[in-house]
Amino acid sequence: GDHLQPVSCERLARWGLLEDFFAAGAERRLGSRYLDPDGELVLHAPVDELDIPYPYYLYLDHERITQQLLAAAARNPNFALLKPANAKLLRDGQRFALEVDDGQRRRLRAQLIVAADGRQSGLRRAAGLDAELHRYQNPLLILFAPRTFADPRNEVRAYFGPRAIISVIPRCGDQWKIGWPVASEELPAWRQAGEAELGERLAALVPELAGIRPRLAGIYPVAMVTAPRWHRDNLVLLGDACHAMHPGRSQGMNIAIRAAAQLADRVGADGVLDDEARLAAALDAHEALAAELAPRLADNHARGLEMDRLDPAAVAALREKLAAVAADPARRQAYCLAAAGY
Ligand SMILES: Cc1cc2nc3c(=O)[nH]c(=O)nc-3n(C[C@H](O)[C@H](O)[C@H](O)COP(=O)(O)OP(=O)(O)OC[C@H]3O[C@@H](n4cnc5c(N)ncnc54)[C@H](O)[C@@H]3O)c2cc1C
Repeated sequence: GDHLQPVSCERLARWGLLEDFFAAGAERRLGSRYLDPDGELVLHAPVDELDIPYPYYLYLDHERITQQLLAAAARNPNFALLKPANAKLLRDGQRFALEVDDGQRRRLRAQLIVAADGRQSGLRRAAGLDAELHRYQNPLLILFAPRTFADPRNEVRAYFGPRAIISVIPRCGDQWKIGWPVASEELPAWRQAGEAELGERLAALVPELAGIRPRLAGIYPVAMVTAPRWHRDNLVLLGDACHAMHPGRSQGMNIAIRAAAQLADRVGADGVLDDEARLAAALDAHEALAAELAPRLADNHARGLEMDRLDPAAVAALREKLAAVAADPARRQAYCLAAAGY
């Protein structure tokens, strides 16, 4: 993921990282537009009109986000990075420990293990924490392309395509990332196409993109993972390991940042890590976030299922719904606030 919501910018600022992100090349995005394929506007959802501390989305390539976060972590004198490494969970009396292999096999004991090992989390399974899985039927096709026209607001342009929304998302360096769900049987044709043919195929779906020269960036199988329990003993799950979601709304990393901020506040209080009972209480309190997030995740799933249907009627129904939002200033304001992460 590379787009951070305004609410996540607030957290980066609190951690003293926002300026570092801009120094690393992050750019501001001021909203989203839903459009017919010929460019006719259906809904404009700006965030720079909202009364919030950071009225913009921030985007930065995923690898550079990782670098910035690791550089910040390395300011802690107790930080050590073992990479590449493979971690396995072990039982160590009443607690969990890790066996980490980074060329040298070592056993690591910790007051708290934070397992942020993705939606297939091996640590989650090894800890015996259940998770519900929903595999969406159609993978997301992602293309990268130089922009074919300038937009000083760097907005997402979400086009109502014939069977799905086709999202044209700004990337750093005057690039776009273009993504939409594609039926598996249609993937070989997209995979085999050269730049010129990819461009023609895309422009046939979205005439406003005529002349585009995209390249294939990736094909992502999409799944939702929901773990009802996030912790056991001294292990706690974070990120996709406990709440992987359909990326249609670019929320996964944002919600992980929210959970990380809350977890740090709860377990960072004086003495909590040294006291098993207080740590357990802090992790229980942290886990309450799962219930708080549930409506947002359910909404995201409903939207994911809608996208997954590849059904012209679903696209038309969504268009109608968003046109109604556009026509009602109060609903539009609420829509923009929710999209900003509030
Ligand atoms: C196409 C696409 C676009 C997206 N765009 C956005 C966006 O714009 N904004 C947003 O908020 N979200 C976005 N997301 C979602 C976002 O990418 C994920 O929510 C986020 O990456 C989750 O981070 P994570 O650290 O929990 O898991 P992951 O990113 O999956 O990272 C887990 C890491 O753990 C490592 N690992 C796993 N097992 C082990 C082990 N045993 N030992 C050692 N290491 C291990 C893996 O190698 C991996 O590096 C997007 C997702 C997709 C697919």
